[in-house]
Order: sequence, then structure tokens, then C-alpha cells
Amino acid sequence: MNNLFNVYPINDITITKGIGSYVWDDNGVQYLDMYGGHAVISIGHTHPHWVQRIEDQLHKIAFYSNSIKIPLQEELAAKLCQISGKTDYQLFLCNSGAEANENAMKLASFHNGRKKIIAFKKSFHGRTSLAVAATDNQKIVAPVNETENIIFLPFNDEKALEKYFAENGKEISSVIIEGIQGVGGIRIADESFLQKIRSLCDKYGAIYIADSVQCGYGRSGKFFSHDYAGVDADIYTMAKGMGNGFPIGGVLISPKIEAKFGMLGTTFGGNHLACAAALAVLEVIEKENLIEQAKLRGTYLFNRLKSIDGIENLRGKGLMIGFDVPDALKDLRKNLLFNHHIFTGAANPNVIRLLPSLAIAKKQVDEFLDVLKEEIATLSTVVTES
Ligand code: PMP
Repeated sequence: MNNLFNVYPINDITITKGIGSYVWDDNGVQYLDMYGGHAVISIGHTHPHWVQRIEDQLHKIAFYSNSIKIPLQEELAAKLCQISGKTDYQLFLCNSGAEANENAMKLASFHNGRKKIIAFKKSFHGRTSLAVAATDNQKIVAPVNETENIIFLPFNDEKALEKYFAENGKEISSVIIEGIQGVGGIRIADESFLQKIRSLCDKYGAIYIADSVQCGYGRSGKFFSHDYAGVDADIYTMAKGMGNGFPIGGVLISPKIEAKFGMLGTTFGGNHLACAAALAVLEVIEKENLIEQAKLRGTYLFNRLKSIDGIENLRGKGLMIGFDVPDALKDLRKNLLFNHHIFTGAANPNVIRLLPSLAIAKKQVDEFLDVLKEEIATLSTVVTES
């Protein structure tokens, strides 16, 4: 009897160690991590500064209630606002991406007293009640989830958005959007679409929520992918890369929203240990110039992928890259993992997602590209021969 409830189909691999962009299994086999543990690894596995910061904190105190002063929280909020450039925003700390989105949508509703939420086709926002209701995947929505107030509009369709606002503008509490959809298959929101969301939210008093759980924290080559469009969201949510593997989430709130005492809260959010981990991440991002690095490496990877035959619909920004693989290459991901020991991500069987650490070295990118090319050539030969 397996007492563990498995939530995903499990590959028969046990990872026991990680350094930078490599991980090792229990037999000592080395794998290249082009998936970053699902966009979670931002500064690299077990970065020495991150380990040290957590260890130092662990020897002092790991957790105490939120009813006392925790200077680490203030330090983290100040650093995040400085690095992201959202200097007059305020940070609410929680534990995961779903929790961040749940609270963001709730806060928007507190703010304007409205109920309706616009989300987009192929979105993923997490698995708590509102977050899952705003996720475009019926299979994971239970009858109890609060779907009645969610409207799904087509992604990047300005006309549909405008029409919906024109007819229902005063009922709309918030619009929640990933600047680059992750689980949906690396679909980039057009800059003009984000600008349209901004202007419609302003016009009708709705709140613009930028779900930056996957595409945020420097991954796109800017701190928030929405920065490319030159817009400020009212609320940014984040998690994954924020802790580099330590669970922590955040809701970054514009000064125009008044978050009052009692509206938000959690037991574990912003505990000492999580803050130490998250601070270490920001310190490394700053010191190693990882946002610029993500842009440079991402552009290099993207341009080299362009020249590989067999890859279709290449898209992405920074180190958030996706491409389609035709049916003839359907074994590509599996072969990369089991024959070449390279982890990649999927969005559906025909999309490969690349989400490596922002600190991945050029050598490692080259290693990936060489193997990818070789494996595509092998698979193509097999198809031609059969
Ligand atoms: N938003 C986005 C864009 C995500 O990709 C995810 C996780 N895949 C979430 C929210 C949910 O985050 P968590 O699993 O930490 O609840």
C-alpha cells in the first residue's frame, strides 16, 4: 500500500542533490535542469549564499507568530520594491502562488465592492477556491469552487475585452492575467493587450492583477513581464522563484488600494526562515545581475533554437521559452530525460517549456542545444526510415 497520494504521473527518478543548473539522482547520475523545478529555481539549486542565509537564520529562530515585529519582513519588502522598481507598493507575504492570487482577487473585491473577475482562456492561477475558478481547466474545478463570478475571455483579444467592459464595466472587480501564460503553453500577452487592460481598468474602476508567479521575478528579462508594456499593475502576485525552492508567496499592492487590517492574514506567511530565503534570492539576483543575465541567456538560447529544424512556433521572453513539437517528435521530451538526462517541462504533449535557473551558464545552454539538435535529428531519421 502506498500511503502517499501522488498528484502527478511520477517519473521513476529520485533526485537527491542539486547545484546550480545540475541535479543528481540517488545513483549519482547528473541531469541538466532546463525546467528549474517548474520555474521555481531562480538563482540555482543550493546557491551558497541562499544556503548560508537560511542556515544562519535556522540557528536563530525559524518561526514565531505574526503578532510580533519581524524586521526581516520589512527588509524583504523594501528590497523587493527597490529591485522591482515598484517603490511605493506594499508587500503582503503568504506561502504559495495560489494563496497570493486568492488574496489578490479578494483584496480587489474588498477595494471596489464588486464580484466579477475577468480571466483568460488557458490561464492557470492555482488550486484554491477563487484561483482555481479563474483557471481555465474544468477538470480541476470542483462544484464548490466559486465559478459563478468568473468570466473567461479570449487571450489577446482586445475587441472582446472592450465589448465585455462596455457592457458590464461597473460590475467588474478585477482582471487577472499572466503576462506570459506558463501552464497554458508559453503564450505571451501582447503589449497592446496589457495596455488595453490598464486603460479599461482605469476607466471602469477595476483592479489589474498581474499573476507573476511563473513569469515574474526576472525570468522574462525584466522583473515583471508587464514592464515590457510600460504598464503598472495594481497588484502583482508572486511565488515560485521568490524562494528558489523555499515556499513563500507575495502580493505586491499599489498605494491606490487600501488594504485594511483584517483583510489579509496567514499563520506561516513571512516567517523568519522564508524571509531569509527570499532575501537571499534578491541579494543574489542583484549581485549577479540575474535579470539582465536572464535576458542575455534567453536571447542566445532563443536565437539558437530558431535555427533548429523540427521546432515549431518558437516563442518566449528571457528564460521562459516554449516551442511546439510535431507528432513525429513526440518522444523528444522523454528521450531528453531518459537518454540524455535533461529535464524540460511540458504544457501539453506537444509543447516543450524551458524554464531554467536565471543563472544558467552559456556552457550549459550549449550542452542542451547540442543534445537537442542531435536527438531531433535521430528522431527525424527514425520517422523517415519507418
Ligand atoms: N499562477 C501561475 C501562473 C502558476 O504557474 C502557478 C503554478 N504553476 C500558480 C499560480 C500556483 O502556484 P502554487 O502552486 O504555488 O500555488
